[in-house]
Amino acid sequence: MENNDQNREPRTENKGGRARGNGQRSGAQPRRSNPRGRAPQKGAQSQSPAGEKRPTVSRGAAVRAQKRTQMDAQRVANQWMPAQVDENNRRANFIDDSPRLKIIGLGGMDGGGSKNMMLVEYVNDAVIIDAGNDLSVDLPGINYGIADTAYMETIRHKLRAYVITHGHLDHIGGLPHIVPKFPAPIYGSKFTIGRVEEIFTNFGLPMPDGFELRTVMMNEDTHERLKIGEFYVELVRVTHSIPGSTCVVLDTPVGRIINTGDFRFDPNPLDHERTDMERLKELGNEGVLALLSESTTVERLGRTPSESTIEQSFKDIMEQAPGRIFVGVFSTNMNRIQMIVNAAVHHNRKVAIDGRSMVSTLEMAVRHGFMKIPKGTFIPIASVPAITDDRVVIICTGSQGEPSSALQRMANGEHRHIKLKQRHGYTF
Ligand SMILES: [Zn+2]
Repeated sequence: MENNDQNREPRTENKGGRARGNGQRSGAQPRRSNPRGRAPQKGAQSQSPAGEKRPTVSRGAAVRAQKRTQMDAQRVANQWMPAQVDENNRRANFIDDSPRLKIIGLGGMDGGGSKNMMLVEYVNDAVIIDAGNDLSVDLPGINYGIADTAYMETIRHKLRAYVITHGHLDHIGGLPHIVPKFPAPIYGSKFTIGRVEEIFTNFGLPMPDGFELRTVMMNEDTHERLKIGEFYVELVRVTHSIPGSTCVVLDTPVGRIINTGDFRFDPNPLDHERTDMERLKELGNEGVLALLSESTTVERLGRTPSESTIEQSFKDIMEQAPGRIFVGVFSTNMNRIQMIVNAAVHHNRKVAIDGRSMVSTLEMAVRHGFMKIPKGTFIPIASVPAITDDRVVIICTGSQGEPSSALQRMANGEHRHIKLKQRHGYTF
């Protein structure tokens, strides 16, 4: 206040002095300059008693300037209007941070169906459904591909679980790479968890220090429901070419999601693992927010023949084949292998298994009681040459011509124990 008073003092004096002088010189000048409010300032500046040129303003001019500024601000403020939120036609700049459910396909969405991996996220919880690998990558030195997990970095604190539909590699093959980086327990049916433990055991690369594989075995037959964060999870049995196949039912705070996994509707599956239609109906009647499903050759009309018709074919083939029989199958297709074993036992043939992965999976399946193999049925592949040709069946991987599979090596004459002869039977 004191400073302001001092500053004002000389101005008042100057104004008076200048006004008097102006009045004497000309009547027109002050009238012209005063309304503009500039002349007095100039005068004040030049006649400052301090003897230096510094900008000073009259109190009136300052008040008017302030008023103008306020009016300008008011005018700008009045231009603002609240955004009209039209629920049907939202404006692009409308930010809605209300809780929402996110379903993000991290892999397997490209039509190939490999490296299946899906993320379900709601507020502070996230669950991964399946984490497969892609064996179709055809690049030198690369065995397979896995899904891009960059997004998981941003929500790693939300990750509560991996839930697995079934034990095929295109649904679990990515786990040993991904789970150590983003640790969370793995949920699945008994067979699926057996498969998961198997691939972690056979992974071949060291796990990071302190990493511990955590698994939760769920019973799909009792419709067991477990709480994972804000979600509830349940598995529903479906028929597929590997035991313990399930749909994943995930109840979120905003609705139910069902991921079918791979499935078939076969009224007479060999392993009696029939799709649990009753439970699916119940869940459907209760309401489903989203059904996530895919189907290879969906465009083809008709039904897949029941798997149980194939067993008779195996028996017929073994009836007629004069020599060794080679059967190419997927290493996890326990139904088929069980059928081949049944047919072989029926025709008094021994069974030899080729392919490390198939032997490992078979061991696990027998241990968990998913396969019934009469004692003495299996023989080591190395002892095949010592057995009469029409007393043996050889089961091997490579039914689809994979380059380094057992069947391919046999065909190229590069196999350690098996030399192919013309009269052998080959079944794919
Ligand atoms: Zn599958």
